[in-house]
Amino acid sequence: MTGAARGIGAAVAKRLSEDGHNVAVIDLAEDASQETADAIAAATGGKTLGVGADVSNEDAVKGAVEKVAAELGGPTILINNAGIIRDNMLFKMSVDDWDAVMGVHLRGAFLMARTCQAHMVEAKWGRIVNLSSTSALGNRGQANYSAAKAGMQGFTKTLAIELGKFGVTANAIAPGFIQTDMTAATAARMKVPFDDFIKFSAEQIPVQRVGQPEDIAHLASFFASEGAGFISGQVVYAAGGPKD
Ligand code: NAP
Repeated sequence: MTGAARGIGAAVAKRLSEDGHNVAVIDLAEDASQETADAIAAATGGKTLGVGADVSNEDAVKGAVEKVAAELGGPTILINNAGIIRDNMLFKMSVDDWDAVMGVHLRGAFLMARTCQAHMVEAKWGRIVNLSSTSALGNRGQANYSAAKAGMQGFTKTLAIELGKFGVTANAIAPGFIQTDMTAATAARMKVPFDDFIKFSAEQIPVQRVGQPEDIAHLASFFASEGAGFISGQVVYAAGGPKD
């Protein structure tokens, strides 16, 4: 479970622990990962592990997955959730802004999936869940992020095709507005108080509220479940209303 020290990732990690899985909380900072892993273990009584790794770094990913395999067993569920935003209008977007976003979302998901699939193929069972976004459909100021999140969808469908015969499914969750530090940062960039941003956004959403990390955790739990084995290569928009 990547990017799991806070936000959506922490909620998914907790939910998977409640579901009875051993959970590795992988995030950039080892201490923050361990803190979240400990809090989850205290709440659920499950076995957890905190690992510090940059998912865009090939050696770091290899080391992290080896550590998880040694301490918790070979990973058969992978949630590619680590993410960053570097928003800017196209004419002001730097190459670094572009590369950083591609690096964490696409390169990170690729490295994690390539490393973890060996354990899944060996087990003849696996579940991969990739975090896309409604921004995949286009969003002003997010040329880099929307391209990465659309890329996650194509990546997911290809994993589903390649890995299906090994009992491995791959699906993508495309959240709309979820109340986390990431959306707080967007509000700050737009110079709008976060509470006003939430209120305004909720008015545009059919269910009249913004999403919470637990909304995404619920869907991730479903995709990771035994019973979801015939559902693969799908993108589900979790946005409080239809998106296409
Ligand atoms: P968040 O609160 O910003 O959390 C993202 C986590 O990813 C942070 O813990 C961050 O670590 C970690 N991370 C960043 N770069 C990393 C790297 N290179 N290696 C490992 N971990 C890294 O974001 P969130 O809102 O929970 O979003 C989670 C996922 O959902 C992302 O993929 C995001 O794009 C997607 N999403 C979110 C929304 C939304 O409305 N919030 C909507 C659609 C999709 P640090 O704390 O150390 O930076």
